[in-house]
Amino acid sequence: MCLAARLLEVRWKTERLSGVLPRFLGEFVSKAMTALTFVRRVLPIAYSAPATRPGRVLFRAITRLRSDNAVALTFDDGPDYRLDRFLGLMEEARARVTFFVVGEQVERAPSKLREIDSCGHEVSVHCYRHLNHRQLTPKQVVEDMRRARTVIEETLERSTELFRPPYGCFSLASWLEADRQGWERVLWTRDSRDWEPRATPQSILDNVGWPRAGEILLLHDSDRYGVPGSWQNTLEALPVILERVSARGLLARPVGTILGAEDANP
Ligand SMILES: [Zn+2]
Repeated sequence: MCLAARLLEVRWKTERLSGVLPRFLGEFVSKAMTALTFVRRVLPIAYSAPATRPGRVLFRAITRLRSDNAVALTFDDGPDYRLDRFLGLMEEARARVTFFVVGEQVERAPSKLREIDSCGHEVSVHCYRHLNHRQLTPKQVVEDMRRARTVIEETLERSTELFRPPYGCFSLASWLEADRQGWERVLWTRDSRDWEPRATPQSILDNVGWPRAGEILLLHDSDRYGVPGSWQNTLEALPVILERVSARGLLARPVGTILGAEDANP
């Protein structure tokens, strides 16, 4: 082949390549963008999955216990300054319950935590700061949970066994971290909705109804993260809830105690 023909061939190939390259690059960038958009949409959904209705099937938490004779009353968000009044009612009814406590509340009133324990109630972990885990990064979630554990266990001088996240919302990070910490993940069967702005003692009783054996009731002994004064409604409804439990021939017992009985009688 003569030199002129070779030059023509090289020029032709270069022109072809210069057409192919931008097209190839364009397609690559377009596919990469599609993949990125997919990841950006899918990752948040996956991260929040444990808090969604379908996700709860896969990411399980305890919402009911196996028992013939006991109900678990649970109180979130304390310990707060009105604790004594709750403990007094529980003592009158010989009820033992579970408190899911907040680390920063414990730091404000460590003696209250010891009071719960000395009255025979169960102390479990709610959080350090009362924030929705779906709105925190995995690192923030893990730090919060570990800090809560440290504060609560150092004050109590004993270990904790149960965990319930703020608002009952697990993120993927908190769901996995609970497992790493060896905690049982606990939600509830009946929500008293005592945290709602329009809650009244009667609405709390209507939501709780007549508890059955093995059910877990959600109540709050603090209004710090809810509507100011809401604890008064809960306190007013509590004697009736305890009467209903007793009228059904049931005992109010901590979640951990009922779980222990489950293990003893598999
Ligand atoms: Zn809470």
